[in-house]
Amino acid sequence: MQIPLLNLKRQTKILNDEIIKALDKVISDTNFIMGTEVEGFEQEIADFLDCKYAISCANGTDALILSLESLGITKGDEVITTPFTFFATAEAISRVGATPIFIDVRRDTYNIDPYQIKKHLTSKTKAILPVHIFGQPADMDKVMDIAKQNNLYVIEDACQAIGAKYKDRKVGGIGDIGCFSFYPTKNLGAFGDGGMITTNEKRLALILKGLRVHGSGNSGRKAYNVINGLSDNELKFKETKYKNKTVSQSSKYYNYLIGYNSRLDEIQASILRIKLKYLDIWNQKRKEIAMYYNEKLKNTSLTIPYVSQDVKSVYHLFVVQSNKREKMINFLNEKEISTGRYYPTSLHLQKAYHDLNYNVGDLKNAEYLSKRTFALPLYPELSREEQNYIIEAIYEFDKKY
Ligand SMILES: *Cc1c(COP(=O)(O)O)cnc(C)c1O
Repeated sequence: MQIPLLNLKRQTKILNDEIIKALDKVISDTNFIMGTEVEGFEQEIADFLDCKYAISCANGTDALILSLESLGITKGDEVITTPFTFFATAEAISRVGATPIFIDVRRDTYNIDPYQIKKHLTSKTKAILPVHIFGQPADMDKVMDIAKQNNLYVIEDACQAIGAKYKDRKVGGIGDIGCFSFYPTKNLGAFGDGGMITTNEKRLALILKGLRVHGSGNSGRKAYNVINGLSDNELKFKETKYKNKTVSQSSKYYNYLIGYNSRLDEIQASILRIKLKYLDIWNQKRKEIAMYYNEKLKNTSLTIPYVSQDVKSVYHLFVVQSNKREKMINFLNEKEISTGRYYPTSLHLQKAYHDLNYNVGDLKNAEYLSKRTFALPLYPELSREEQNYIIEAIYEFDKKY
């Protein structure tokens, strides 16, 4: 039986007619960028996540970059984050000129260990960027406490955790800003790239809306004014110290800030609006599949993922540990069961970060996990029969080795 790590064909097939209809409408409207689908989707995501503002953008990496920039994080600043994540988390920090400070993770939840944060705080630390890895929320109470005590921003990388809860609050709305990705393999996936930024602060929402469209036009002006502490009144703007240096215009071709081109398009938004309606059901299915794995695998050689009592995980990936990982992966592969190594190189040991001068042994848990972890197939449409086939194969491996 052939079982891929993720099979998107089943979900897409079920939604096919609904999606084709939505696409037909976008195509006949020809309003491909920043139209009603994007606006509608932003509102629906804000409602879904209990956030005041949701600002869409081109992808999850941009969501992180725009968020950091909107908070004024730049060269010379340090941002605390985890080394056991997808590269984009740290890359975004570096992209705005700041330095990622990697803090070791817990071996059981795979998330940042908040007790390790304090000793790495310096006068340059500006923010903490926890990642809700594999769908499980990080220990947000402790992260928020440290942030409050030390006057730091918190940016949640919720790219893998849309719909997950920390003590009954959806992730993405706990810190100052939340970042989401709609990369096709995520729990809510587009037919291409897409991203979303959530916040409860109007000021940040205005800056983000300006930055994503080249700092131009009305949204650029509003962002400029809010950054410079000016009320959004064009006349007042003209009469300030900027008099004679610039004119206030709302033209699309008048730029107030150096921004980005980072927008979600109508085609993606129309697809995501349809999929969002099913997200809770899909996340529930994922949980049921994970529970079955937990039950059946608890007495095998694998270490099954631990989920804290404080959270509701959305099981983006079912990541187990094995001290015979390579052998196990090959064995499963021979049985046509695909797996994935998440993540085989801790970020502090990536070539791209050799300038930061980390060494092997600096972040022991992340390094330990990077040699042991891998994901088993888990997606809402995975059948019980397929799951049993995977479980049987693991029993067989244990008997043999
Ligand atoms: C997917 C992902 C990103 C980046 O999202 P893209 O949409 O691919 O740019 C960032 N952080 C984490 C943890 C992710 O899983």
